[in-house]
Amino acid sequence: MVINMNKKVRRACAVVAMLCVIATGVVMDKNMVLETFMSSRSTNEINNYKIEAEYDGKNKKILCKQTTKYINKTNGDLNKIYFHIYPNAFSKREFAPFEAGEMQLAYPNGFNEGYIDLKKVDGVNQKLEYDIKGDKNDLLEIKLEEKLKPNQGLDIEFKYNVKLPNSVGRFGYGDKTINITNWFPIACVKDDRGWSIKSYEALGDPFYSDTSNFRVKFTAPSELKLANTGVVVGEKTKNGSTKYDIEAKNVRDFALIMSSKFSIGRGETKGIKINTYNLNKNMDQKSTEIAEDSIKIYSDLFGKYPYDVFSVVSSDFYIGGMEYPMLVMIDQSLYTSKNKFLLEYVIAHETAHQWWYSVVGNDEISEPWLDEALTEYSTVLYFENKYGKEVSDKLIETMINESKDYSSENIFKPSTEYKNSADYSINVYTKGAVAINEVRNKVGDKVFFETMREYFEDNKFKNVNGRTFVDLWNNRGIDVDKIISECD
Ligand SMILES: [Zn+2]
Repeated sequence: MVINMNKKVRRACAVVAMLCVIATGVVMDKNMVLETFMSSRSTNEINNYKIEAEYDGKNKKILCKQTTKYINKTNGDLNKIYFHIYPNAFSKREFAPFEAGEMQLAYPNGFNEGYIDLKKVDGVNQKLEYDIKGDKNDLLEIKLEEKLKPNQGLDIEFKYNVKLPNSVGRFGYGDKTINITNWFPIACVKDDRGWSIKSYEALGDPFYSDTSNFRVKFTAPSELKLANTGVVVGEKTKNGSTKYDIEAKNVRDFALIMSSKFSIGRGETKGIKINTYNLNKNMDQKSTEIAEDSIKIYSDLFGKYPYDVFSVVSSDFYIGGMEYPMLVMIDQSLYTSKNKFLLEYVIAHETAHQWWYSVVGNDEISEPWLDEALTEYSTVLYFENKYGKEVSDKLIETMINESKDYSSENIFKPSTEYKNSADYSINVYTKGAVAINEVRNKVGDKVFFETMREYFEDNKFKNVNGRTFVDLWNNRGIDVDKIISECD
């Protein structure tokens, strides 16, 4: 995600202080090493989601049936499994995942509820009990009658309705677009920290999920144009409704944005189809060019974008931009010639998340810096590669100035521990990007880009933690201990 640029307050802190923390941020214990070793031997099968959904435009509801094959990828038996049911975070005003000062922006027409109404949760081959839990009723706990052994799969059937709120955050609908994101029951991750079962909070992108396969059959009124994760492999129109058969393999989430007003720009780079869904036709070409250049530049720098399609979607969305696999949503108000630079910055940033968040995954709540700092720095690299080193040097200089007087803080905190989005942004994005730039200066371009490519290739479709990233640099001769002593 990109936080509104005008929020980036000019305060400060030394870059070195933060490099200090790189070394101490995460501690790996022996059990973790063992668990990593065990899971690396596990089955290649990944969670599989089959969803049949129908959009009811009159009531702003999605009527859904879902079968999920959940695979126990841990090295222990499970007697419970958790799923996020994020729409319930929109069910009450006090739950709404927005900062208090932003409620008006998120709900221009006043608060309006969204929720998931679960009709059925049961096993295909065994009876399952469930409870709705979590601070915002946004967690589903499923109790298993028989323990699920490592590498064993369990088929779970769901039936539910999702109500979309009239909200222009990630999830909901505005005047022009219908934003269907974080909408279906999605399995929580269990890693060395245990189950990640946090609620949908206001700060950061509070999501963490495992790479999975999806097959979604989605029916919607035919006048709506659909932007989606995955590839449409079949399409049938009957009585004014179109049923799309969508396949998405090796993705960690599934999002859709719909509008009858989209003007679609099409491009291609390195054999990857680029679709841009625009609400200002004059910007079709510009947004398509930025999307193509972003995919090309990052593919050259870090490793090939591993899917066939990428979509950039202008949306009723007030927070800059937001990333989902194979699709990013961008605030439609940026699509003007006056906002051209900002539009380019935001599209380049969200596209970089395809590498850092989507393909290489991480816990965005416990370690938001891992994807955001890399993504913010990748954005600088986009400008360096497209417009030259003077331009990117200016960007880095601005970032150093923005962050140098900001009181020294641990940028490796969980997103829930930041005061507000300005505090979050200056630490996680700005100081984070400056730190990555320092690492590059220290090792030189050859080692820096070789290591980034190795990081991407080795961790494709996996979840990583900060330790993995730090160790990679240690192994390449960045003496983290020395950096710590220099920080004293
Ligand atoms: Zn971001």
